[in-house]
Amino acid sequence: MENFETIAVRTQTERTQFLEHSTPLYLTSSYVFEDSEDMRASFAEEKERNIYSRFTNPNTSEFVEKIAKMEGAETGYAFATGMSAVFSTLATLLDSGDHIISARAVFGSTHSLFTKFFPKWNISHSYFNVNEVDKIESLIKPETKVIFAETPTNPGVDILDLEELGRIAKKHDLLLVIDNCFATPYLQNPIKFGADLVIHSATKLIDGQGRVLGGVTVGREELIREIYLFSRNTGPALSPFNAWVLSKSLETLAVRLDRHCENALKVAEFLETENNAENVKYPFLKSHPQYEIAKKQMKQGGNIVSFEIKGGIEAGRKFIDKLELCSRSANLGDTRTIVTHPASTTHSKLSKEELEAAGISEGLVRVSVGLESIEDIINDLKNALNN
Ligand SMILES: *Cc1c(COP(=O)(O)O)cnc(C)c1O
Repeated sequence: MENFETIAVRTQTERTQFLEHSTPLYLTSSYVFEDSEDMRASFAEEKERNIYSRFTNPNTSEFVEKIAKMEGAETGYAFATGMSAVFSTLATLLDSGDHIISARAVFGSTHSLFTKFFPKWNISHSYFNVNEVDKIESLIKPETKVIFAETPTNPGVDILDLEELGRIAKKHDLLLVIDNCFATPYLQNPIKFGADLVIHSATKLIDGQGRVLGGVTVGREELIREIYLFSRNTGPALSPFNAWVLSKSLETLAVRLDRHCENALKVAEFLETENNAENVKYPFLKSHPQYEIAKKQMKQGGNIVSFEIKGGIEAGRKFIDKLELCSRSANLGDTRTIVTHPASTTHSKLSKEELEAAGISEGLVRVSVGLESIEDIINDLKNALNN
């Protein structure tokens, strides 16, 4: 097996007759056939070749191959967005009447999928709190099929024990599906701990520069085959252009992430010294409640830091208003540092009780630490905290 950085740089589509050094962009919706026999055999899947870009395209295949190798997966399929990856993966695996067990702290649209849309198809769910992995077994029903989780979680930056989730899934013959978006394949490989499928929103750190949307699911061949058949008929395919951008982005993932993580750790250490910031959470801070688990399953702590600002909602809003360098945005995993106040924005529709259950206090602030000078990032946070 090649090393991560070599996979990232050297996994490439076959060169064309022009012997280009860097993979070209294949903007083509369809492909031609030698003769009727070639066409028959291709449609019968006796040959592995491109037929139509809703099925496969050289750029998407290169992107998928890289992510699969990076995650230690057999194969995968690429999607237009992270959410189409989440939806198409679960829609493939679940039948009417099936049940999912999921961590409560999941991405907002994933929560909407479980609560608003899956019930239409008679697919139900049970949530467990991030600190209650030991309760999962009590939630298992005869119709349970999937355990779903994200780690680190959003926006609370909690850590779930992947090895434990893998053990429970295996013992009860359930599929373990992990949304690995916050860690990227560079920092954490859930398949090593027993995950059957790994999903990424490539929109975040994989692109890393806030340009394009994308998603991908990788894992065992027979499961991906089903996901592929569902997707080639329902049409959530990643565009070749975005695949090309994302595959180039992967070439620099390791060096970008090294700096993201270094900066995030410095931001977390700085916040721990500030009087107006409490409960600073970063997976590689010794004070993190799941520090030992983070060390076991992650290479570094990622780029997301959360903390609570003293004074609740109003203090949170004032802090956001005082920022001069950091962006006020809901995205994350960009070169630009982004600060979000969930209670007044992304999670403002939740009641106080619902916020609490999701581990979001009124003063919670999430920082997606970027690649600006660490001195400038810290100065901006410091000024906003002390004004
Ligand atoms: C952003 C995000 C998604 C959804 O990805 P899109 O590309 O925006 O559709 C899913 N899961 C997590 C953890 C995310 O952060």
